[in-house]
Amino acid sequence: MSTLKAVRGTRDLLPPETALWNRVEATARAVFARYGFGEIRTPVFEDTQLFVRGVGEETDVVSKEMYTWEDRARAASEKAQSLTLRPENTAGVVRSYIEHKMGDTGMLQKLFYIGPQFRRERPQRGRYRQFWQIGAEVLGPQSSGAESALRDAEVLEMLATLLDELAIPRASEANDGKGWRLALNSVGSSTDRPRYIAALKAALEPVKATMCVDCQRRAETNPLRVLDCKVPEDQPIIDGLPKIAEYLDEASTAHFAEVKAALDACGVPYVIEPRLVRGLDYYTRTTFEFTVALGLGTQNALLGGGRYDGLSEMLGGPKAPGIGFAIGEDRLILTLQALAEAGSVTIAESKLDAYIAPMGAGQNAAALALAKDLRASGLSVEVGDGSFRLKKSFELADKLARRILILGEDEVATGVMTVKTFATGDQVKVERAELGEFLKN
Ligand code: AMP
Repeated sequence: MSTLKAVRGTRDLLPPETALWNRVEATARAVFARYGFGEIRTPVFEDTQLFVRGVGEETDVVSKEMYTWEDRARAASEKAQSLTLRPENTAGVVRSYIEHKMGDTGMLQKLFYIGPQFRRERPQRGRYRQFWQIGAEVLGPQSSGAESALRDAEVLEMLATLLDELAIPRASEANDGKGWRLALNSVGSSTDRPRYIAALKAALEPVKATMCVDCQRRAETNPLRVLDCKVPEDQPIIDGLPKIAEYLDEASTAHFAEVKAALDACGVPYVIEPRLVRGLDYYTRTTFEFTVALGLGTQNALLGGGRYDGLSEMLGGPKAPGIGFAIGEDRLILTLQALAEAGSVTIAESKLDAYIAPMGAGQNAAALALAKDLRASGLSVEVGDGSFRLKKSFELADKLARRILILGEDEVATGVMTVKTFATGDQVKVERAELGEFLKN
């Protein structure tokens, strides 16, 4: 029989790597808590219409990449429903905001999530069909100040703090640009954007025939996407196209200026990237992306986000301006692993506090009871088996733990243990009553 494997584009995350995932998530949770965010957990699958309406039918995510299926009706009273594994989490959070009438509190909602997302993309390093995102959303009724540029800057400053705390360096001359870089843009309000798109369409009309086939199509269906084109021959043409900044109205210009001033005040570095329009349709005004030239190859976008002032209404909800981001957790881990390889961060090896080696089957029960007590006092402990030879016990213990604790007949009788510390080679006798304290040091 052929063996079964994880399907293409998905993978198992195993220890010890999962320890790094947990550390990253714990750091994110701690930072989010300091900024007043609470956790939201929305379902992994939703009504397909949520993404069609929320993310946009014309986007690559919705038109090509969703895992969608027709859910069979289980009873005559039920209707078959089209369901989709979530390709992103913002639409789900906004749906939940509307469903639970969070806006009625009048309060600003600050929500974060950590979880898997699904997109049928071509798998490669840093790009998977099931991947994890750590994200957050700030939204609320207009009276809660959700539209304020202060919120955009706060979210960006929080991200800079999180990356700092994870010891991912900022790009600088000193590190040859091998750090994170924040690219920032404003795509304007829902009234600015149509004017810009019309200008873009007009400017593309005489040149589109000379562009790549994708751009020829995009020029018709979704001209903004032309700005994402990576084909080298198209770049001079794209550089000559009108810039969104020239089409922002007074309010959008002022909003963007306020974001930049607040970032300057907080010491968060950024680069204005006029072509940053992002792949999802719901963005308005501020859009951003953090890239990192470390361990990610061509998939160097570490996280992305932006403001989505009209999304709630697109989903049939009340006016609820908001801003959010999603970090690619898989890519964050790859970045940290690359930094560890270069020696600039250490990924702590998680060794157990002690390994208990019973000298014979007669000490197995005592060994397990001792392990139970030590574990209850907060120590991490592994227990061997009395049938193991002493040499095997030492080899195993050295791989797994910082210390080995030998438990023979005498030790059980006297309550005095022999403990060896591998790092120093010291071997000492320790009274049972002092064992816990000794192992904690
Ligand atoms: P998006 O939701 O497209 O704005 O993506 C936000 C972030 O999620 C990106 O910057 C990536 O870091 C990450 N991401 C998106 N798609 C994938 C994928 N297929 N595999 C791994 N990470 C992804």
